[in-house]
Amino acid sequence: MTTRVWDYLPEYEKERAEILDAVETVFRSGQLVLGASVRGFEEEFAAYLGTAHCAGVDNGTNAVKLGLQALGVGQGDEVITVSNTAAPTVVAIDSTGARAVFVDVREDDFLMDTSQVEAAITPATTCLLPVHLYGQCVDMAPLRALADRRGLAVLEDCAQAHGAEHHGAKAGTLGDVAAFSFYPTKVLGAYGDGGAVVTDDAETDAALRRLRYYGMAERYYTVGTPAHNSRLDEVHAEILRRKLTRLDTYIADRRRVARRYAEGLGDTGLRLPTTAPGNTHVHYVYVVRHPRRDDIVERLKAYDIHLNISYPWPVHTMTGFAHLGRGRGSLPVTERLAGEIFSLPMYPSLPFDVQDRVIDALREVLSTL
Ligand SMILES: *Cc1c(COP(=O)(O)O)cnc(C)c1O
Repeated sequence: MTTRVWDYLPEYEKERAEILDAVETVFRSGQLVLGASVRGFEEEFAAYLGTAHCAGVDNGTNAVKLGLQALGVGQGDEVITVSNTAAPTVVAIDSTGARAVFVDVREDDFLMDTSQVEAAITPATTCLLPVHLYGQCVDMAPLRALADRRGLAVLEDCAQAHGAEHHGAKAGTLGDVAAFSFYPTKVLGAYGDGGAVVTDDAETDAALRRLRYYGMAERYYTVGTPAHNSRLDEVHAEILRRKLTRLDTYIADRRRVARRYAEGLGDTGLRLPTTAPGNTHVHYVYVVRHPRRDDIVERLKAYDIHLNISYPWPVHTMTGFAHLGRGRGSLPVTERLAGEIFSLPMYPSLPFDVQDRVIDALREVLSTL
């Protein structure tokens, strides 16, 4: 039996009636685009997070892109972020015409090293873009203080941190604007693509609604560009509404899986994830670290266990981002990590027997390295 790092089918089997009812609800609603389901989901997701506004968009990459544009970020601007992230974070920055500037990450939790940010600020810097990677938040207080002192905007990339808390506040409420993805693997996932941008500021929200809808302030009247067609799909919005009522349960299940890994692998020499002070972890992925990562991943294939690496190539080392001018050697922690991390199967409905197979196989492989 092949063990996959992520599998939505056990969850679909459990929730099938409700998912199909969500589809039927939209198909019978009489409004297939920007209807009651998108509006309802926007209100319910904003309420869940504790933000004033939420605008549904078509995916997480465009959530980051439109979020930046709503903040006025564009050509000639610099946005400070990390290279240890999913490439779409940087694709989104690039697509606004702004330039991504990278700082390194911390050794303990692989998140933005906020102590490096001030030195990266130039007169062109307009925005700080922390990525709440793997399921927990970047240390936000120093970023907020720096942004206020230097007049910068803060956009949180929350694509991996739905429901994660930082000193009691949810990811998505800690900056000026926050971007979410509902790609199926995410902590809150649709049955296809989806995204959202949240903010407390009414004008920013109005800008987002124009940006996603041809730049129109009202029907058939475009008031400006940049503009896009980046709407959240009505079917996925209705599915997300149903799943949102269970988000805290999904997170509790992910934590249970994480605890089981910690119990089963705590004494093996693998470096297990840590949770930074003030954070709750939602374990979007369960990232472990070992200097002989490649050997371990190779040997596990004999057990038919396929692991993921998030991420094997730091963004700044990819040819597609060579124009950013940051070669190998410029971000030592990020580069070292990329050669040593790998992710174990993690999803809320991961069966115990499957997880035990992974733990047993890893223990065997690690004991014979
Ligand atoms: C998934 C992800 C995105 C992109 O989301 P899509 O919905 O796939 O476009 C952006 N940033 C991070 C950190 C992600 O994990």
